[in-house]
Amino acid sequence: MISTVGFDIEKVKESQLAKVDFDNLPFGKLFSDHMFVATFEDGKWSKGKIQPYQNFTISPANSTLHYGQTIFEGIKAEYGVDGNIRVFRPDMNAVRMNESAERMCMPTIPEDLFLNAIKELIALDKNWVPKTVGGSLYIRPFMFASDAFIGLRPSENYVFSIFTCPVGPYYGSAVKVKVEESYTRAASGGTGAAKTAGNYAASMYPARLAQNAGYDQLLWTDAKEHKYIEESGTMNVMFRIGDDLYTPASSDTILNSVTRQCAVQIARDNGITVHEGPIEVAKVVEAQKNGTLKEAFGTGTAATIAPIELINFRGEDLAVSITDNEYSKLILDTISDIKSGKNTNYPTWTMLV
Ligand SMILES: *Cc1c(COP(=O)(O)O)cnc(C)c1O
Repeated sequence: MISTVGFDIEKVKESQLAKVDFDNLPFGKLFSDHMFVATFEDGKWSKGKIQPYQNFTISPANSTLHYGQTIFEGIKAEYGVDGNIRVFRPDMNAVRMNESAERMCMPTIPEDLFLNAIKELIALDKNWVPKTVGGSLYIRPFMFASDAFIGLRPSENYVFSIFTCPVGPYYGSAVKVKVEESYTRAASGGTGAAKTAGNYAASMYPARLAQNAGYDQLLWTDAKEHKYIEESGTMNVMFRIGDDLYTPASSDTILNSVTRQCAVQIARDNGITVHEGPIEVAKVVEAQKNGTLKEAFGTGTAATIAPIELINFRGEDLAVSITDNEYSKLILDTISDIKSGKNTNYPTWTMLV
């Protein structure tokens, strides 16, 4: 079978859908019936195939396993109030995937290949998109090097693939973060702005130390002076001080969150002044002490908005109100309504399947 845009389609013999309990979805370990795969060989992408979800076979010398030439994205789709499935901002993920690819010396993916693959894959597995309140389909596009060669050079062959996972509502409670002043997530000139494996591998040890001390995530600071706030876990961060919002601008050490960029736009559209630029840790600490720090929250696809209820700085736990949530609620409600099709003021922000 061939899809409308020319992908080969091999359907599962037996769907796993009947076994899924949509009221109790585990995050990230339940996969929809089908996956997308395209390969890059001889300098070009294959036309792409949708096939049953299955393992890859790779050589022990696969260069990704040794040198980490691999990148990913995270996107969500959900059923709207009108019964249509909408994918939130996949255009921005397509652009960022290619920015990551360039930085990692990997081939870029034509935007229409990226978007059509998502569209066709979800169309085929549309029954995997949860219809429960707050449920969504998490989409994981990724690319990895596939040369069987242990010399250190960029691979010549790659695999671009996409799989999806039905996920339940994000019940994440507010997070406690610890300001990190010793370890570093990303340094200027490094790979911090790319969604590439090594950044996450390197963050696990310092994050584990913080978790052992009772915090959920680290609030990373700049590698040079540990003076400016960068981001937290897999979220960018925003602070409401007085009536204004502050957020670190995107840079080569911060993964440019799609959710944050949308949040900035929504805040500005609602007349809120947003400062995108360097934020000293000292400024946030001082605001907490003098009572002007009204809200702190993370932005990312998994949670959309994750309230921060505590910031640990040099051994001191600084509480942040999570009930004063005027700005974060406005942003969360607006994004939720755009995703569900209730708010039609941002027509280019969703892709219909
Ligand atoms: C993916 C990610 C984010 C969030 O980006 P979104 O596009 O909003 O999902 C933030 N920081 C890091 C390090 C990430 O990997």
